[in-house]
Amino acid sequence: MNIHEYQAKELLAKFGVAVPKGIAAMTVEEAVAAAKQLPGPLYVVKSQIHAGGRGKGKFKELGPDAKGGVRLAKTIEEVEAHAKDMLGNTLVTIQTGEHGKQVNRLYITDGADIKQEFYLALLVDRGSSRIAVVASTEGGMDIETVAHDTPEKIHTIIIDPATGLQPHHGRSVAAALGLSGDLAKQASKVLAGLYAAFLGTDAEQIEINPLAVCEGKDGDELLVLDAKVAFDGNAMFRHKDLAELRDLTEEDPAEVEASEYDLAYIKLDGNIGCMVNGAGLAMATMDIIKLNGEFPANFLDVGGGASKEKVTAAFKIILKDPAVKGILVNIFGGIMKCDIIADGIVAAAKEVNLSVPLVVRLEGTNVQEGKDILANSGLPIVAANDLGDAAKKIVAEVRAA
Ligand code: GDP
Ligand code: MG
Repeated sequence: MNIHEYQAKELLAKFGVAVPKGIAAMTVEEAVAAAKQLPGPLYVVKSQIHAGGRGKGKFKELGPDAKGGVRLAKTIEEVEAHAKDMLGNTLVTIQTGEHGKQVNRLYITDGADIKQEFYLALLVDRGSSRIAVVASTEGGMDIETVAHDTPEKIHTIIIDPATGLQPHHGRSVAAALGLSGDLAKQASKVLAGLYAAFLGTDAEQIEINPLAVCEGKDGDELLVLDAKVAFDGNAMFRHKDLAELRDLTEEDPAEVEASEYDLAYIKLDGNIGCMVNGAGLAMATMDIIKLNGEFPANFLDVGGGASKEKVTAAFKIILKDPAVKGILVNIFGGIMKCDIIADGIVAAAKEVNLSVPLVVRLEGTNVQEGKDILANSGLPIVAANDLGDAAKKIVAEVRAA
């Protein structure tokens, strides 16, 4: 689960991480009021969308010469003008895809006087099964490019969970960033805050880009200027307060609806809707559709206990996608019995007035009873004997339609 930059910074501040002062705004008036509460004389107006690359992004509505989604302002009037430019408009960045994302929220922050920008991230390293800290002096840039062109500039430090974060980790990060003296101490403090936040929130990733050396009143300060925080969705049940930070307008509406029914659904670009139980079988189903020359319209795992309600909801979600020209149901009745699943499919198909070809492959407990129910339903359901047969049949149906 992703959150906005302003939410991430408010969260990190609670863990003792230094961030610039800032206030979120939903309207131009709120943006102006926010700026008036900040010390000035420099403000930053930041588009809040769940995607990076905002600074170099372009607004669809504003033409190629307009500035991006992160802008500096020297007066309250400039803050107002930037807010008007951004709110309600569509920001296209390297991470949004060409359709872009509508900006509905802004973050107005105190402008920092940047001397140097770094990259610092914590993530789960699958290879070592541990939390890894990634640090680089090449901040403010696309880290994938840095990793590709100059991998020697990326330092990775693995933390042993048995001992947790130790002072030497902080020193390693400071050394990797070329910091000494008081700034090295600040780097250790930032790392300690990020590590505590990572563990305390069951995070999947915390990415700071840039972490910046800024000129402060009492000397140089290390500040988090941009933060991307993603939580492990499977741990959200024990973080009710964090779950409230979810912004559903940032997510695909069909995926949001699916999550309400506890269905694992991901929209894809093809024309054959898939309803399958089990993630592995769902992957195999998508593969075999491709092997037969068509493309899946979605990944959908209805889970082990696919009730009639769940199957109906799944049909409705699949059919909302106008690209869907046929549906392939592939269910293995292990714990679930095939006759119960068949009942669910028939009831759901009647309820949604199914208008596209439906091929069903059932296998497992009570399979014959299940097939009989489908055959006697009076619905134009095409029965398949195995997965290969099912894929061939749905591809043929879609091409004939
Ligand atoms: P991103 O483009 O989505 O990664 O958004 P960022 O929040 O990282 O902002 C993009 C760039 O704007 C940063 O890399 C900085 O160079 C610049 N920036 C952000 N905040 C400030 C600030 O307070 N002062 C100055 N001078 N530049 C800033
Ligand atoms: Mg950034």
